[in-house]
Amino acid sequence: MQLYCESLTEYKRLATREVRIGDLLLGNFHPIRVQTMTTTDTMDTIATVEQSIRCIEAGAELVRITAPSKKEAENLLAIKNELHRRGYKTPLVADIHFTPNAAEIAARIVEKVRVNPGNYVDKKKFEQIDYTDAEYAEEIDRIRERFTPLVKICKEYGTAMRIGTNHGSLSDRIMSRYGDTPMGMVESAMEFLRIARNESYHNIILSMKASNPQVMVQAYRLLVSVMTDEFGECYPLHLGVTEAGDGEDGRIKSAIGIGSLLEDGLGDTIRVSLTEDPEFEIPVCKDLVKRYIDVSTAAQHQSAAGNGQPAIPEVNKLPYSPFEYVRRNTQTVSNIGSKQVPVVIADFMKADTITHNDLQAVGYTYDTVTDKFTISDAAADYLYTGKKLLDFALPGTLKVICDHSTWLKATDKEKYYPLFQSTEYLKSTDHSGILNFISLDVNTAASQELLQAARRDRSFVLVLWSSHVHAMPSVRRYIIELMNQGINCPVILAVESHDTTIDEQLIHFSTESGALLLDGMGDGIWLMNDPEKIQNQKVSGRTYLETKSNHQFINNTSFSILQATRTRISKTEYISCPSCGRTLFDLQETTAKIRSVTHHLKGVKIAIMGCIVNGPGEMADADFGYVGSGPGKITLYKGKEIVKRNVDSAIAVEELINLLKENNAWVDPLVPLRTAIN
Ligand code: SF4
Repeated sequence: MQLYCESLTEYKRLATREVRIGDLLLGNFHPIRVQTMTTTDTMDTIATVEQSIRCIEAGAELVRITAPSKKEAENLLAIKNELHRRGYKTPLVADIHFTPNAAEIAARIVEKVRVNPGNYVDKKKFEQIDYTDAEYAEEIDRIRERFTPLVKICKEYGTAMRIGTNHGSLSDRIMSRYGDTPMGMVESAMEFLRIARNESYHNIILSMKASNPQVMVQAYRLLVSVMTDEFGECYPLHLGVTEAGDGEDGRIKSAIGIGSLLEDGLGDTIRVSLTEDPEFEIPVCKDLVKRYIDVSTAAQHQSAAGNGQPAIPEVNKLPYSPFEYVRRNTQTVSNIGSKQVPVVIADFMKADTITHNDLQAVGYTYDTVTDKFTISDAAADYLYTGKKLLDFALPGTLKVICDHSTWLKATDKEKYYPLFQSTEYLKSTDHSGILNFISLDVNTAASQELLQAARRDRSFVLVLWSSHVHAMPSVRRYIIELMNQGINCPVILAVESHDTTIDEQLIHFSTESGALLLDGMGDGIWLMNDPEKIQNQKVSGRTYLETKSNHQFINNTSFSILQATRTRISKTEYISCPSCGRTLFDLQETTAKIRSVTHHLKGVKIAIMGCIVNGPGEMADADFGYVGSGPGKITLYKGKEIVKRNVDSAIAVEELINLLKENNAWVDPLVPLRTAIN
């Protein structure tokens, strides 16, 4: 099966089995449910109840609570009773790792249990063992023996189950046969699913989480394909990106992973994992889901009014694999296309004037004394100035795009390049000999003449956007057409947001450009918004655009999207668990502290995990790990190897820096270290 969803061009939910979780129905076209997980100690009944209530009041339709051992599993009864006493009947989910005994207790109390097939029966030893077919089959028998009792309890009590695979905690058996791959993730869940089906138990939801949105998206697609091929039906999907982090990066990473799948109608419930209090995850979930209610409603209204937009032509065969990342083959046009990292275009069209100092927001800091610019790793590659020409010399790596009529007046044709509307380009004979940008709304029929020009002109770069209500699939459809016709001009993804909150804008940008970048489409990114819509919003008590300018917000968002899709690495990457009842230190504070001293380490991946039980397994491909290993104790990892055990937390950040230095992963920051740590 090459297609993994009902349609690549029309918004259609994937048909899935209906699952009952207490009184809540999920799957089978029921609304996409939003959920979160508590971070309190499960033995602290009142704290857990009160946090659960905050989540429910925020809109959580399911609340997950960790049950690391039998005693926490038993305490779920006290939590449930207290919630009921206070009038809250929202279904609870017990989160289980390693402890079948706890799962069997919890399944008799709460409405749903979550098991991780990577560690439900297997104890991970990080050993590379070759399994013969007979040994592999024996392991499956062992799983069946240990897992079947839980299935029977769930059946008897009407309890639902999530078989939740995590990329970072695959069993040695799966790793030995499939490696650390999306197929390994799928097979890990399928082994458990087959056992449950043999018991005629179907109240099941599946998840394929990873901290890398690329791996996560491929794994969910593959899971749908494998379930359809093997069973002829699909179980509901719980979508999530693990250890996404906090703030804007966490939202961007989640929106790329979850949003890319929702765009194609996949997903019956979602959780956005942020290193923030869990109730703050719910509005982000709601913003993500709302987009698809809007898409369906807008399409229905348009068709009822008889003014529907042109249908996006269907796709029956893809010219690329949706299960692996391969960048679309494009030709090189200046610093755009081919194997070069996607470029970032900063939109200054609405600026009345542009000075040296304005460039600081997009990565160029000007020093008046030396008359020089310092260029950051996240410096934009192009400025779009509309009808303006600049009256100062540009930093070396920065070029300008301006409207064609303005470009005609520019004297420096090595630095200034024209933007044409598509018809304007076809009519004009004044083209740049180096680089021409052609803007095209893919929702209007593109002429064959333009496609011929794209094929012929080696300086041709398309700037694609869509006025279609379901914009991403319409841009994707156009790029598929370019691929089918063998047209290799580079493509810039232009996305404009009219959303009225910062979170909505982040989700809009991330979903619409991120979904394409994950499929190898896009040689650049050009984000636009309306700053007036967000200028009065308060974040941490301050007006948002007091803390950063809109240009800085857009520039950061562009680089964060490229980083999260792993198409252009410009900064340190943090893999930070969302925390739960097992967490051994203040994750939010520690994550902020580590970020403040390591944010300049371009390309280094640092995991910050709350506990040593699951942390090491969930760190995925982090280069270094900072993991809680006891009260006030931190264990430091290099890859999956422990290098410093039980370090006092008071000096653990400094020890982490020493570890980075020992491994040549450190460069001195511009701000003195002592100041930053304090
Ligand atoms: S790694 Fe973090 S979220 Fe996962 S179990 Fe440990 S503390 Fe909880």
